[in-house]
Amino acid sequence: MSDEKKIPYKIYLEENEMPDSWYNVRADMKNKPAPLLNPGTLKPLTFEEMRGIFCDELCRQELDDTTAYFEIPEEIRKFYKMYRPSPLVRAYCLEEKLQTPAKIYYKFEGNNTSGSHKLNSAIAQAYYAKKQGLKGVTTETGAGQWGTALSMACAYLGLDCQVYMVKCSYEQKPFRREVMRTYGANVTPSPSDTTEVGRKILKEFPGTTGSLGCAISEAVEAATAQEGYRYVLGSVLTQVLLHQSVIGLEAKAAMDKYGIKPDMIIGCAGGGSNLGGLISPFMGEKLRGEADYRFIAVEPASCPSLTRGKYVYDFCDTGKVCPLAKMYTLGSGFMPAPNHAGGLRYHGMSSVLSQLYDDGYMEAVSVEQTSVFKAAQEFARVEGILPAPESSHAIKVAIDEALKCKETGEEKTILFGLTGTGYFDMVAYGRFNDGEMSDYIPTDEDLAKGLAGIPKFPGNEI
Ligand SMILES: *Cc1c(COP(=O)(O)O)cnc(C)c1O
Repeated sequence: MSDEKKIPYKIYLEENEMPDSWYNVRADMKNKPAPLLNPGTLKPLTFEEMRGIFCDELCRQELDDTTAYFEIPEEIRKFYKMYRPSPLVRAYCLEEKLQTPAKIYYKFEGNNTSGSHKLNSAIAQAYYAKKQGLKGVTTETGAGQWGTALSMACAYLGLDCQVYMVKCSYEQKPFRREVMRTYGANVTPSPSDTTEVGRKILKEFPGTTGSLGCAISEAVEAATAQEGYRYVLGSVLTQVLLHQSVIGLEAKAAMDKYGIKPDMIIGCAGGGSNLGGLISPFMGEKLRGEADYRFIAVEPASCPSLTRGKYVYDFCDTGKVCPLAKMYTLGSGFMPAPNHAGGLRYHGMSSVLSQLYDDGYMEAVSVEQTSVFKAAQEFARVEGILPAPESSHAIKVAIDEALKCKETGEEKTILFGLTGTGYFDMVAYGRFNDGEMSDYIPTDEDLAKGLAGIPKFPGNEI
């Protein structure tokens, strides 16, 4: 018996081993992520300009590139304890199935009703809105996980919650919509005729099935048009990565308990929040020169912002009402093909991850949809969890890396983020099971259309 066998299938932390602070990886970055810009003046967005959209404490977190640790308020820790610490699982069964010498671990964030990691930031954002005495929050949701998470957090704290849901998901995922309504949220399909920007988008693209970018524009407009409301966002922003660092901090604490050091850390990347959160403490060590890891971002070939986008300032939303962010982007007008299943449809990427990628601290790969569902199926059959399609992008690359180890005989340790469950994605699973799923990869001409909409100003040439 090797020492190996002593590592349990699931490594749990005790409640008192849970992190009491979030870690802000920006504090250890030499090249800080570029600041958000006011699209009118092209100057960095100030606290005063930002606080009309976001609540005050979240603006402070958004703007803070130097404070390494933010204490997690007691009330948020209490909420976390309902579903955290989340398990770190040793994928013994998958390893056996693959016959790989690699050691595979995954951090599972699907253990709550919303079914994903998004609840980690939802409760934080709802908490600060409540603390500021606001009436409610508005937001967008793509596949529906963020809207569900926010609905749960708002119900817990007694805040009003208005969700603009990307139209194709609203229609494809009626069950998510009903979970949100059960938690008391008001859900509107986007683009809608309830906002000025929604009406404009509908006129320009009649019959559009929507995009996250459109829904963001509508939610921001709804927040600024109503007294006592602020906008909250489930990914992309630096504050969201900060909250999601709880994933990486727990994973690292659990691994440290058994002296496990991952060689590579893999995560799916939509707007970058789960990946950013998972890698943060490990990336901190790499940035400080204390340890080395490979970090791999996995994105869909149908929405390839890191692998085929440009690193420039761009609008965060289709309606161009939000500040400009410097990020790897496909252009705010990019509309992913409607055959693409749900999440990971955002045109841009977290400014933190964009900078780390540009500086060479992180790699990125894109994978095709059918290969992702194949990996999901293989994983579900041996590990007993039905994974979300988004999470399955990470599974796909973890399996690929484990199979490389099989060829070379290397006993690498792989950690990946299993961000959620796929129970609400059965329409997509159905298409896969029926052999009707296709792989759409945009051509360079398709991408050129989105890239053409990137704002042009001195220093922002593509
Ligand atoms: C939202 C979501 C993602 C992608 O968002 P990130 O901000 O990139 O983490 C991935 N997996 C699941 C299950 C999600 O709900």
